[in-house]
Amino acid sequence: MNDILLHTEHVTKTYGKQKALDDVSITLQRGEIYGLVGNNGAGKTTLMRLIAGQSPMESGEIQLFGGRTEAELRKNRRRMGTLIETPGFFSYLTARENLEYFRLQFGIPGKDIVEGTLEEVGLGDAGNKKYKNFSLGMKQRLGLALAIMHSPEFLVLDEPINGLDPEGIIEIRSLLQKINSKKNVTILISSHILPELSSIATRYGFLKNGVLLEELSAQELLRKCSVYVELQVSDVKKASVVLETRLGIRNYQVYPDGYLHVFEKLDQVDQICREVVLADIGLFSAHKQAMDLESYYVNLMGGTQ
Ligand code: ATP
Repeated sequence: MNDILLHTEHVTKTYGKQKALDDVSITLQRGEIYGLVGNNGAGKTTLMRLIAGQSPMESGEIQLFGGRTEAELRKNRRRMGTLIETPGFFSYLTARENLEYFRLQFGIPGKDIVEGTLEEVGLGDAGNKKYKNFSLGMKQRLGLALAIMHSPEFLVLDEPINGLDPEGIIEIRSLLQKINSKKNVTILISSHILPELSSIATRYGFLKNGVLLEELSAQELLRKCSVYVELQVSDVKKASVVLETRLGIRNYQVYPDGYLHVFEKLDQVDQICREVVLADIGLFSAHKQAMDLESYYVNLMGGTQ
């Protein structure tokens, strides 16, 4: 399958002296759920705004549904729905009234669509509730309802699960999964918490200070967050030599306080331990561990979040 829905090429955006995006190129295939992950200020919103046409391009190019010119992009953006920062809902109107207002504003045909969309996002019973009395989760759902009301083929969602409780996160995630699998809607979703996206994203892009550090598939990430053996030894330098020369191990990492993480030959842990001890190196501990997503992310970002 090679059906590119969105491609950003060398996109750069500067605010004053601040480079919010620096040469960012990402690619989304149709049907994917692409998780854009990065800490506060990484440039996620800036990139999404450019894709959505809410902010002028500075340099680089955006291709959307095959279109590149301003006119093509304007036309093709009608096929996308966005939730970038909280939409301007009216606090004294109900959920239903708010959606009806925007339906008329956007010229979306069919009054029934409001009811159907409220149902779809799980707000079927809250249609008569005023927006000002909504919980954060309900507000996020209504924002999502507005984004999907015109049946877009592509959704751009900026931190739609930010601030939700675990139950709310699960609900929104399963809603997005449903929209993706049942309607084949491609989704670009941002978060600053990698594990929040782990069960739904099929591809990831990691942003830091406006730079795309890495783009990889969910399977590749899973492989990277693999199982390893953690050894604590009296002399890491000596132990490294043993790993390389006696066991032919190249895929390992050295950490402070005598720790080593070995990522290969995990079926020979007893052999690894024996060789270390035979070389007269103190072996204080050895156990299998799994690098979790959170640790992978913190490592990639170069320190604590
Ligand atoms: P967050 O998770 O905090 O929303 P983000 O990854 O979405 O962060 P952006 O909001 O895109 O990051 O911001 C990227 C950088 O650009 C930040 O340093 C921010 O201060 C700056 N920035 C964003 N919008 C503007 C603006 N309108 N004017 C000036 N600077 C801006």
